[in-house]
Amino acid sequence: MRAVLMTGVLATALVLAPVVRADPAEQPDRPLTAFDTADPAIGNLDPALRTAVQNATTAAAAQGISVTVNSGWRSPQFQRQLLEDAIVTYGSFAAARQYVQLPEQSRHVVGTAVDIGGPDAAQWMIANGPRFGLCQIYANETWHFELAADANGICPPLLPTAAG
Ligand SMILES: [Zn+2]
Repeated sequence: MRAVLMTGVLATALVLAPVVRADPAEQPDRPLTAFDTADPAIGNLDPALRTAVQNATTAAAAQGISVTVNSGWRSPQFQRQLLEDAIVTYGSFAAARQYVQLPEQSRHVVGTAVDIGGPDAAQWMIANGPRFGLCQIYANETWHFELAADANGICPPLLPTAAG
């Protein structure tokens, strides 16, 4: 039963967490990491968040876990495009809003959120991210992290979805 559940979670993550660049024309030949500051997806992140993800990435690598960044900063125009694409994918505005924020509300647009990738990276970050200040925010997005832990490394309660 546990194995079946895990497989379901992984399959969901693979379907719902596409690699998203700040500039869709950019298609580097390797995944971005938090150290790729020349890319606007990383370079335009809030510096405190970027440093936290860099530190977590280094700690994860020491344990054999590769943490990549599927999506960091996004322009408002690109966020709008993602929402329009999600409406097509999920069939309605309400369904799309379970996964994609309005440009005015997205933490990606203001550079204070990252979507991480890499095998086992989300599980590692959920377990270890809080000591770097990094928290999962939405129950249905295991890959989306923000700098939200308190001084004791405690994260706020999960919100059900991005729709709030
Ligand atoms: Zn996100």
